[in-house]
Amino acid sequence: MPRSFVREARKRVGPKRERIGPIIERLQAEHADAGIALRFRTDVELLVSVMLSAQTTDVNVNRVTATLFEKYHRPEDYLAVPQEELERDIYATGFFRQKAKAIRGTMAMLLEEYGGQVPRRLDELVRLPGVARKTANVVAAELGEPQGVVVDTHVRRLSQRLGLTRHDDPVKIERDLQRLVPREHWGIFPHLLIWHGRRVCLARAPRCADCVLLELCPSSRV
Ligand code: SF4
Repeated sequence: MPRSFVREARKRVGPKRERIGPIIERLQAEHADAGIALRFRTDVELLVSVMLSAQTTDVNVNRVTATLFEKYHRPEDYLAVPQEELERDIYATGFFRQKAKAIRGTMAMLLEEYGGQVPRRLDELVRLPGVARKTANVVAAELGEPQGVVVDTHVRRLSQRLGLTRHDDPVKIERDLQRLVPREHWGIFPHLLIWHGRRVCLARAPRCADCVLLELCPSSRV
């Protein structure tokens, strides 16, 4: 897209600080059902689900955890079986060797350092083996204490299209969003973008004519 066109488009929609409130409001009205698609009943199940969701779909994870969580309840249960058995039990989520190793390492640390509980602070969560910042952000947000903004492929694409960031690196995008999005919305905001990205602002062919953000978006193609 030519630079002059991008500049014109940004001028047309106005500064992002003025647009962010209406963007959140409209997305909340449009996707009232937005939320995490993973199924879990406890903090430990949440953590395991999010760890399993790397490089696969939430639907696939839910299929696996429907039986997994009947067998494994507490952190001790993941350590009571040989690693190969856990690998077989999570095989369908892909990358099963690394995931089994990470889950067992995490469960051992939960028992040794956190009394078997899932910690709530981001700096503690990222210490758990195999728990990167994105996983930690998702878990903290679901535990009701968001301390960052989750950036996945949908969040990155929509933040760029909406002119909320000029960056491509997830860490820099998160920094931009933390400055822009009011803290009370840090938990829900990624879900809103993810659901809008799946339903309307599709990667290849965004459905701008049906988009509630049309006049607020510098990338609209209508
Ligand atoms: S107007 Fe188009 S590009 Fe902008 S958010 Fe909506 S669907 Fe995406």
